[in-house]
Amino acid sequence: AMAAAAAESPLNRCEMRSPRLGIITASITYQYVREVFPEASVLKLGWSFPFPDQLLRTFAEQVQELVVLEELDDFLEERVRSLGLKCRGRELFPPCGELSVAKLQAVKDRLEGRETAPRAQSLPGLELPARPPVFCPGCPHRGLFYGLTKFDVVVTGDIGCYSLAVFPPLNRTDVILCMGGGISMAHGLEKAGEKRKIVGVVGDSTFFHSGITGLLDIVYNRGTATIVVLDNRTTAMTGHQDHPGTGRTLQGEETSAASIEAIGRACGVRRVRTVNPYNLKEVQAALREEVAAAEPSLIISRAPCPLHERKPVGPRHSIDPQKCRRCRACLKLGCPAIENHQGEIRINQLLCAGCGTCAEVCKFQAIGPLGEEESK
Ligand code: SF4
Ligand code: SF4
Repeated sequence: AMAAAAAESPLNRCEMRSPRLGIITASITYQYVREVFPEASVLKLGWSFPFPDQLLRTFAEQVQELVVLEELDDFLEERVRSLGLKCRGRELFPPCGELSVAKLQAVKDRLEGRETAPRAQSLPGLELPARPPVFCPGCPHRGLFYGLTKFDVVVTGDIGCYSLAVFPPLNRTDVILCMGGGISMAHGLEKAGEKRKIVGVVGDSTFFHSGITGLLDIVYNRGTATIVVLDNRTTAMTGHQDHPGTGRTLQGEETSAASIEAIGRACGVRRVRTVNPYNLKEVQAALREEVAAAEPSLIISRAPCPLHERKPVGPRHSIDPQKCRRCRACLKLGCPAIENHQGEIRINQLLCAGCGTCAEVCKFQAIGPLGEEESK
């Protein structure tokens, strides 16, 4: 049934242009293909598994040269070849890293038998400042990781929005591995002899699918790591899906909500506490006490993702230029709403989500919420 649905899905789009070159692609690579090969016929797969085999065959019959362009593994290309269709693909571009317009221009050079010239990734004449990806304005994870910057601990993490803490200015994840790895690595490093206290971080959704076994392992094997579950009440990184802790199924039906606190206790963790990550003092106090404990502990840092809630956390904030001493402490939060205009620190009112975290770090009381009228 799935194969039949894939074969007829409108998500798979066949765009016939010149018959000389036909490109099979999917996802973001389609946009690069359209920019670099505007004349080519394109089969854009929006439903790539199960494969729409007949569509692949029909497309291949209508073009003289068939090329498969896809990021990472040769997933589509292998299938095309397995159908007995002759194509080119992986030999034209590197097997790792993201594709880009520049990389596809090099593919075009190769296809047309030209020397490939190195090309800039950005638009000619457009000088953009280099900047690392950062947490969104108002993200509740910011306060927790800012709190961790005050402690000499090893932070092990895994994959989620919270992986962004690895970048400046927070720089507060030391090692990232697979889903659930934030917990299991915390235990592994301790058993391997790391002398500093280890804090493992994990997202709420990840905790449910691959964190619980690691936590149980820490308790069972007499570890002492502190585990922080960054509970933003959704699976934010992949598009805000529900999970067993939200009380809703993926279809939006009400269901029972699993308690992270109860699961932690059931695993044998005696020190379990919940903090509000927008309250930096509370975060610091919890980290101080749990990092000092000679037994495993679990901190649940709980506040909903404002993007998922579709509303600001509170009133927008602004900086009083008369009070600001330009100490730049607020810039260390890495909030994209806080801008440095040639030394003058300002809050971009279009971006501020009103979380108030910056007001907490300003020692000069230069930051505060706008009044109700101004904040509208
Ligand atoms: S922390 Fe306060 S005083 Fe320092 S730059 Fe930011 S607003 Fe100005
Ligand atoms: S209140 Fe401060 S930290 Fe929060 S979103 Fe606005 S500028 Fe950023």
